[in-house]
Amino acid sequence: MNTDARRILVTGGAGFLGSHLCDRLLEDGHEVLCLDNFYTGRKRNIAHLLRHERFDLIRHDVTFPVYLEIDEIYNLACPASPVHYQNDPVQTLKTSVHGAINMLGLAKRLHIPIFQASTSEVYGDPTVHPQTEGYWGNVNPLGIRSCYDEGKRAAETLFFDYHRQHGLEIKVARIFNTYGPRMHPNDGRVVSNFIVQALQGRDITIYGEGSQTRSFCYVDDLIEGFVRLMNTGPDLTGPVNLGNPGEFSILQLAEKVIELTGSKSKLVYKPLPADDPTQRCPDISLAKKTLGWEPTVSLEPGLKRTIEYFDELLHDA
Ligand code: NAD
Ligand code: UDP
Repeated sequence: MNTDARRILVTGGAGFLGSHLCDRLLEDGHEVLCLDNFYTGRKRNIAHLLRHERFDLIRHDVTFPVYLEIDEIYNLACPASPVHYQNDPVQTLKTSVHGAINMLGLAKRLHIPIFQASTSEVYGDPTVHPQTEGYWGNVNPLGIRSCYDEGKRAAETLFFDYHRQHGLEIKVARIFNTYGPRMHPNDGRVVSNFIVQALQGRDITIYGEGSQTRSFCYVDDLIEGFVRLMNTGPDLTGPVNLGNPGEFSILQLAEKVIELTGSKSKLVYKPLPADDPTQRCPDISLAKKTLGWEPTVSLEPGLKRTIEYFDELLHDA
């Protein structure tokens, strides 16, 4: 029996990251309440948990209040891929802002710690490289990415105001591009797009010249960072960058995916979407120092595991 077992709410728990977090918390002996409205999440991500005796599922939209009795909250609910979050930008902003207010209100009533899945998007198209937590960012407040970027920035503000005003224990993680099994095959994110295109022998779509960079973190590494941040005493509020500092251009990623899948797909060039950041790479000194955390899975083995997942998924479809 785990004497430290807690009852933990995971909002967005049926999504890509949320479902891995539910797995990890159950493995650690906790009770998990997964709350999701299935906007981008899928039952299949948590199908294996539905009969677990310490797992419960609540279909609910975080933009509406909810009354639960729990010991901890991980707030992940929010569509994360540009295609999905731009599909209904007003709902995206509401999810970040009203969702944060509702979850912070719940944490305040119960006096419990709350974790926020923030994002490297708070840095916008950064002028500082690599990005440190002290950098305030370069975000367009009016563009097509703003519903997500400004929503997440406002959520961070709310977390810090609840912390200062109400003494709430907060944990803010700034997550950089993360990939792995259970990504949605049609969510338009670069890793899932390239792998699915390569496996189906379709053209690989490079937006712009492919010189823009991203740093790709494997999901298991990220989840380890989440749990460490949540379990490191109340003094560490964050924000803490969590990501893999290995930086690759989008063209390099496409070439790697073609090599690992053995695909005959061709590269095709499409227009670069508005406000697409040109460079992104985390400075993870703070996470190393305070959490003793750094990624352990490099791009190639991480991609291989993700390719295996999509290969199976496409065969099942
Ligand atoms: P995802 O789209 O797979 O998961 C998001 C989950 O939230 C889905 O299950 C969705 O149905 C749910 N959701 C959306 N709106 C909701 C609402 N109003 N009420 C209840 N549930 C709702 O995305 P993900 O990659 O798992 O991202 C999870 C979190 O991590 C998000 O908050 C995202 O902003 C953040 N994040 C992810 C990345 C990444 O690279 N994966 C990077 C930065 C930040
Ligand atoms: N991208 C691409 N082809 C695709 C999908 C994405 O070239 O089929 C590019 C996109 O323009 C961006 C990068 O890959 O520069 C990462 O995109 P993603 O949507 O995964 O995440 P972002 O970091 O932009 O939120």
